[in-house]
Amino acid sequence: MLRFPIYLDNCATTACDARVVDTLLPYFTQYFGNPSSRNHSFGWKAAIAVEAAQQQVAGLINATADEVYFTSGATESCNLALRGICSMYAGKGDHIITTKVEHKAVLDTCKTLEKKGAHVTYLDVNADGQIDLNVLKASLRANTILIAVQWANNETGVLMPVEAIGAIAHEKNILFFCDATQAVGKIPVDVKKAKPALMAFSSHKLYGPKGVGALYISRKDPRVKITSQITGGGQQKNIRSGTLNVPGIVGFGKACALAGEEMDADGHRLLNLRNKLEQALLSLPETFVNGHSSQRLPQVTNLSFGYLNSNEILSILNKNIAVSSGSACTSGSLDPSYVLKAMQQTDDRAKAAIRFSLGRFTTAEEIDYTLQFVRTAITNLRENSPAWQLRH
Ligand SMILES: *Cc1c(COP(=O)(O)O)cnc(C)c1O
Repeated sequence: MLRFPIYLDNCATTACDARVVDTLLPYFTQYFGNPSSRNHSFGWKAAIAVEAAQQQVAGLINATADEVYFTSGATESCNLALRGICSMYAGKGDHIITTKVEHKAVLDTCKTLEKKGAHVTYLDVNADGQIDLNVLKASLRANTILIAVQWANNETGVLMPVEAIGAIAHEKNILFFCDATQAVGKIPVDVKKAKPALMAFSSHKLYGPKGVGALYISRKDPRVKITSQITGGGQQKNIRSGTLNVPGIVGFGKACALAGEEMDADGHRLLNLRNKLEQALLSLPETFVNGHSSQRLPQVTNLSFGYLNSNEILSILNKNIAVSSGSACTSGSLDPSYVLKAMQQTDDRAKAAIRFSLGRFTTAEEIDYTLQFVRTAITNLRENSPAWQLRH
């Protein structure tokens, strides 16, 4: 039986898996100790749970437990990485290369660093949403300290050529920071292959609780050092002070373990459902996919419905289907998405975009309903649209 509204906004956040909730609950009431309390069993129990979670998180990305630092989420991890590197390596240089399609957590942090004197190159992307590796190479300077490129885009699901970027950074001895928030738990992410020096991701995007995330910091080849941005009790080797969010971390660990076990099956199932939805909607005239045809996350599609704008579409869909026009952080604004603009889309096409993001709890029945409902909604909206009547 269908339950409404149908949730297809899993790029914004995911439901916490019930198995994750079961695992973390005792850490609120029973095992509530502070892992920094070294003198009694409440503290020991909490510390052991945090270490186990660190192993689970590290295991999902093929890192070691001592390379995982817990934060409040990917926004904080991106801030810590970018600010921490700029300050630690200020003597070596002050040039950062990033892209125009990064999440605001990266872009706005780069803007702030620019005000403090850093120089930032914002790479263009092509119509598929990917950067050009030759342009990346040509942008490298003697004082470049960091390349910051996302693994997967949060509006389109487009995958960046991270292994090639990692190889370039490695060869040139430049640090590679990767915002992998949309990729971790959805597709295989292996830090030994893509070779990021630092990598950010978040629990609530992979069926864990909100308010907890991680920053991976490579310990070997390269051995990365960063300046802490939050000072205090010296937790987490002084990199990120503050009492650890033990229930959140335990839940994040469990979510990572589940993702490791279920990602392949989930990804396969969701790719089929995504493709079914996409093909059904592409049968409408003047409808386009935004993003690379194959280099994309399996569970996301971003579609533009020509001659309409996303707000009018959303106002019809919202009653039955929860989707968005792009990122949760910028939705509600009337400006076309900066990601789609960077992909050289026209304003009209960028303003007509809707992102459908499926997840672990999406069912085949929900997709069948959605494709019918959206087809009807788009057809009706267009029949009442003067722009549509007058086209060509
Ligand atoms: C959601 C998201 C973030 C921010 O993560 P939070 O944990 O919500 O702070 C950063 N980058 C990308 C690509 C995201 O999708």
